[in-house]
Amino acid sequence: MTQAFQPSSMAGYTLPVYEYRRPPELSTNEIALYPVVVVGAGLAGLTAALELGSRGIRTVILDDDNTVGASGLSSRGICYAKRSLEIFGRFGVAERIRAKGVTWNEGEVYRGEQRMYRFNLQPERDQKFPAFVNLQQFYVEQFLVERLQGVESVDLRWRNKVVSVRNDAEAVLVGVETPEGSYTAKAQYVLAADGGHSAVRELIGAQDEERSFYEDRWCIADVKMHVDDETRRSEAIRRAYLDGIPTQGGAIWYHQMADGIWRTDWQIGHLPEADAETTPERATERLRKLLGPGVRFELVWVGPWRFKKRLLQRFVHGRIAFAGDAAHEHSPFGARGGNSAIQDANNLAWKLALILQGKAHPDLLQTYEAERHYAARDNTENATRSAIFIGPATGGQRLFRNAILDLAQRHEWARAWVNVGRLSVATTYADSSLNRERGAFESRSAAPGAAAPDGRFGGGFFVEQLQGQFTVAFFGARGGAVDAKTVVVSEAYDVLWKRYGVPAEGATYVFRPDGHVLARCSGIDAVFAGEAIQAVLDYRSGGTSRMSTQDPVAQRMTQPEMDRLYDDLAVLVDHTPGPERERVLARLVIVLAQEVGSYPKIKQAISTATSEK
Ligand SMILES: Cc1cc2nc3c(=O)[nH]c(=O)nc-3n(C[C@H](O)[C@H](O)[C@H](O)COP(=O)(O)OP(=O)(O)OC[C@H]3O[C@@H](n4cnc5c(N)ncnc54)[C@H](O)[C@@H]3O)c2cc1C
Repeated sequence: MTQAFQPSSMAGYTLPVYEYRRPPELSTNEIALYPVVVVGAGLAGLTAALELGSRGIRTVILDDDNTVGASGLSSRGICYAKRSLEIFGRFGVAERIRAKGVTWNEGEVYRGEQRMYRFNLQPERDQKFPAFVNLQQFYVEQFLVERLQGVESVDLRWRNKVVSVRNDAEAVLVGVETPEGSYTAKAQYVLAADGGHSAVRELIGAQDEERSFYEDRWCIADVKMHVDDETRRSEAIRRAYLDGIPTQGGAIWYHQMADGIWRTDWQIGHLPEADAETTPERATERLRKLLGPGVRFELVWVGPWRFKKRLLQRFVHGRIAFAGDAAHEHSPFGARGGNSAIQDANNLAWKLALILQGKAHPDLLQTYEAERHYAARDNTENATRSAIFIGPATGGQRLFRNAILDLAQRHEWARAWVNVGRLSVATTYADSSLNRERGAFESRSAAPGAAAPDGRFGGGFFVEQLQGQFTVAFFGARGGAVDAKTVVVSEAYDVLWKRYGVPAEGATYVFRPDGHVLARCSGIDAVFAGEAIQAVLDYRSGGTSRMSTQDPVAQRMTQPEMDRLYDDLAVLVDHTPGPERERVLARLVIVLAQEVGSYPKIKQAISTATSEK
């Protein structure tokens, strides 16, 4: 993100200011030992502190600032995914987010001014949370801070800046600067959640696996609209404009947040005077073109931004674990940054708590590395491919993007190729070494490693049963005793039975404390459940901490494969000189026709391709 621009003449956002309190170390001059020190009170750090605090783990959380949001950047994330809401639901924070924010499941894709199609991210009903709630990020952080105020085991210290870190075998020494002087704290474990400019990362010299800076430039203009309630309700959808007219071909994002404020986001890098495009005057001009003359609005915040792609080689360095932007950064298309920071914290905290309570071996931390590094690679790839689709940089990319848009205008199947942001969903840890399965199940969406599918249960929803501890669900009949929370899901809950693919003889599902499926077997078997849980507690690293990014079960082309193919085709065109290009493409068609091996299908394909002119 480049520097923010927040003119004093605008309404702007008013952020809360939190009080600095003298840390005890400055009075005692002693080095206290804490189970966990969290560096950074952003989405990752605050979520981790809540998760740890709820398990009674004494946690100190340090932030160099005295407010929410990273300094000066009041307008950042807005879209909070179903999975994040489920994680926050355990603490009552999701309800506040939902009440304040704007719920949406549907989006629209435009080409120029023409609406191409509308999509629904969550067609399956009967779930506690929607696909997304939009809310300014600082509100989410504020709600987390306020919730933490009631958690006794968490000590949140504002204006405490971490300036040194020593990672020893026995503990980590953390040097902290405050307005009243410096002190040192000792931690059994440190969570580095200090954002994209992570000081901890620099201090311990953690290496990146990938690092690049994107030149594509964007401008946020948050705008308060004076519209009636009906318009407001009908506009609770996300709109993506490709080839936008007010931006002379650049993309535009348009969606509503809290307080009657809309986030509009404008691709400006291709414009001749990109810098000048971030002034309130230019932003107003563009908005006027987009909204038409009759709409009354005022700017709340305008600012330019760019994005980086960066991924740490390893997330766990001895007793220090990295989470959120400190561990991985990528384009915001798909709303994967904050949502994955929240999932990182949720994955890490229960494992750390079990280790600190002496119930699990420290090797369990390696499964955080494996699962969340995999998630970060997946998120980075998805976010990067979306950025390429939205802002094609080469002739080949543009050629195939336009071909996809031509087809998508008329054919529903082609819409899966349109990549205006693959929106954040829960990561499935399909290859996690913690997973166990016995018996054949039809439901892949409830396979070990997946986040628990939801559905109505009792007077509420199934996800409400998963409250941060190991949970066993017996589908069919009560099983024997097991050292975990147990629930029985009778056949009357047919939607849940279907979502979990329960066979006629019933099934036993075991859930991890983070709400992901740990294990499943057909039939009612408490012994199987107990063994699956014990295996987590006894977990020892086999030395390999990488999870494969390949989907081992997929038969058809997956969405990431489609996105990769788009890239490959663009490269093919870009790297084949002009006169050769047509011949290469013709040869490709022949090879593909041979592979398809069906004359009627190929005839149909020819007709589809030629009728899109
Ligand atoms: C334009 C834009 C739109 C976005 N949209 C979305 C979206 O819709 N949905 C989504 O999920 N994500 C979105 N993101 C990404 C999201 O904002 C980030 O991924 C998220 O803020 C990461 O949270 P974090 O806790 O890892 O880091 P941060 O939020 O950066 O928090 C880090 C904290 O560490 C503190 N800190 C830093 N150094 C120190 C130190 N030395 N000592 C103590 N404290 C320190 C900082 O003050 C800060 O409070 C967007 C980002 C941008 C730029």
